[in-house]
Amino acid sequence: MSNETFLYDRPIKKDYDFNMWFFFPGPESFAMSSLGYLWLYRAIDILDGIDIERVYSDTKTTRIMRDKINAIAMSFTFDMDFMAIFKFLEWNKFALKAKDRNEDDPIIFAGGPVISSNPEPYKEIFDFMVIGDGEEVNLEATKLCHQLKDKPKSEILLELSKMEGVYVPTITKKVTKFTKKLTECIYTPIISDSAFFQNTFILEVERGCANRCGFCLASYLNLPIRFVDYDKIIETIELGLKHTNKIALLGAQITAHPKFKDICKYIEQKIDAGQEIDMSVSSLRVDSFVPEIVNTLVKAGQKNLTLAIEAGSERLRKVINKNLTEDQIYNAIDVARACGLKGIKFYGMIGLPTETQEDIEEIVNLSKRIKQKYKGFDINFGFSTFVPKANTPFQWFGREDEKSLEKKSNYLKKELHKLGIQISISSAKWDYYQALLSRGDDNLTDYVIEVYKQGGKLGAFKKVAKEMKINTDYYATENYPYEKPLPWDFVEIKPGKEFLIEESKRLVSQ
Ligand code: SF4
Repeated sequence: MSNETFLYDRPIKKDYDFNMWFFFPGPESFAMSSLGYLWLYRAIDILDGIDIERVYSDTKTTRIMRDKINAIAMSFTFDMDFMAIFKFLEWNKFALKAKDRNEDDPIIFAGGPVISSNPEPYKEIFDFMVIGDGEEVNLEATKLCHQLKDKPKSEILLELSKMEGVYVPTITKKVTKFTKKLTECIYTPIISDSAFFQNTFILEVERGCANRCGFCLASYLNLPIRFVDYDKIIETIELGLKHTNKIALLGAQITAHPKFKDICKYIEQKIDAGQEIDMSVSSLRVDSFVPEIVNTLVKAGQKNLTLAIEAGSERLRKVINKNLTEDQIYNAIDVARACGLKGIKFYGMIGLPTETQEDIEEIVNLSKRIKQKYKGFDINFGFSTFVPKANTPFQWFGREDEKSLEKKSNYLKKELHKLGIQISISSAKWDYYQALLSRGDDNLTDYVIEVYKQGGKLGAFKKVAKEMKINTDYYATENYPYEKPLPWDFVEIKPGKEFLIEESKRLVSQ
C-alpha cells in the first residue's frame, strides 16, 4: 500500500451523482510522477458531486464499480500508449470503437501530446478528444458531462463540440488547439512513496521552448513559451518544502525563465542556511551552463548534467535550428568541471533531414577533440533516431531507411567505444513504428487494433501490416510534398501550416 500525502484539501463528498475513472496508460509509479496527470486529477477531485478514481495499467481492482462509471478520461502521451489503453478497455469489457459502445456505456475521452499533435488514428476510438493544454478544457468538459449526464450521448457530444479545444470526431470539422495562460504554478498535488521519483515535489516553471528545433513537438505544440511568475514559483516551492526536501523544476526550456538565476539563488541561500534540499531540473540549455546555476544544482545534489547537442556538425545543428557552436560546448564543459562535476552526458539524434556520413563522422571528431582537451573528464552519449512528428517543420520528411540507420549506429558504437565513450541508441525498429503512428491517418485504426490483438510486439506490427496490406513506408519513410493535404490539417495550431512550410524550407536550405 503506497503512502500518499495530499497537498490540497479534499472535500468530504457524500452525494456523488457522477463517477469517473482517470486512466494512466502506465504503472502507478509513473502516474505518480506525472505532473499533468496528477494536476488534472486534483482539479476534478475537488469538484462537488463527482467521484474520480485514478486507475493505472497495473491496477488490479477498482474502488468504483465498472457499471457505475459515467465517464473515463485518459492520458495519451506516447505513441505506444494505445496498447495499454486498448488493454484497459478490453479488460473492462468496453468495445474499442465508440460506435460499438452502447448508450449506457460511459463517455470515453483522451488528451495529451499524441492526441493534440495528430488525433486521426484514434478518431473512432474516443467519443471526444482534448486538443492542447488540458487543465481548463478537461475540467470544463467534465463539468459539462456531469451537468448533462441524463441527456442522450449525442446531445452531450454536440454541446462538447462547441468548446474550444474539444474534437468530437462525429461532429467537428476543424478544431483549434487550446492554449492556456500560465496564471498559476502547477505542481504534483500528491506526494507518494510509490512514485518513480519517490517523494518528489515537481513544479512547472515554464511551458514550451522558444528554440523551435525543426523536429521538436514539445516546442511546436507549446508555442508561445510561457513563464510562471517568480512569486508564484517561490510560494509553490515553499509549499512543497513543507512536505519533502526533494524538489524538481520542470519545463522544456526552464533556464529561459527571466528569473531562473534568482530561483537558484533562493534555493542556494536556503541550503547555505542549513536546510537540506535536493533539487533537480529537467534539462539545461547550453547558455545556462553558467556557474551561478550549475553551482546551485551541484550543491542541491544533482549528480549528472545533460546537454542536448543533437548533431555533431555545426551545419546540421543549424539545419535543425540548434544554433550551438563548438565553443559553447567547451564552455559548458569548463563550467561543469569548475563546479566539481566529473562528466557530462550528451544527447544526439541520427537520421536527421539532410544528414550525411560527414555529419556522423563529425560526432566522432568532436568527441576526440573533447577527450583530448579534457583528459579524465567523462562524456557519454545517448542517441535516438529521427521520428517525424505531425505539426512540426520536419513533418514532411520521412525517416532514413533502417539499414542505413543501423550502419550509422554501428559506426558510432565502434568509434566511440574506441574512445572509451559509453553510448546508447534507441531502437530504430521501434522508432519506425512511432513515425508511422505520428503521421498516421484514420486508415490505421483497424491496424492498431489488430496489432494490439496480436500482442503488440514488433513482429505483430510487421505481420499485421502485411495481412492488412498497409504500406508502412508511406507513413514512416516517405518524404511528402509541401502541397500534400495532411490528415491532421484540420487541427489548427499556431503559428500555422504556412509558417511550418516556410520554416521547413529555410532550415533544410542551410
Ligand atoms: S532546445 Fe530542446 S526543447 Fe527546445 S526546441 Fe530544441 S529539442 Fe525542443
